[in-house]
Amino acid sequence: MSEVFKSKIVKIRKQRSCSWCGEQIEKGHQAHAAAGTFDGDFFSTTMHIECDRSWQTLPHGDEYIDQGMCRGCTCERGNCGCAKNTEAQA
Ligand SMILES: [Zn+2]
Ligand SMILES: [Zn+2]
Repeated sequence: MSEVFKSKIVKIRKQRSCSWCGEQIEKGHQAHAAAGTFDGDFFSTTMHIECDRSWQTLPHGDEYIDQGMCRGCTCERGNCGCAKNTEAQA
């Protein structure tokens, strides 16, 4: 079980890696920040806007995010089989 206390769009002041895909979120960019508890442990995440959008499409709540996903989609990292890359370039 997880519970989110705080969820908002922030402007990154210091470069950090995305909790979803592990790629850097550059300083000055917008990102989605959330904090809460997962199985009683406190957690906080920061994700690219497009990564958060992907996260929202999953039936989450029982899965901890661990930088193992593809940026902007729900594929396993390094194994993106969807059309998001071609879409982004179109
Ligand atoms: Zn990301
Ligand atoms: Zn993908």
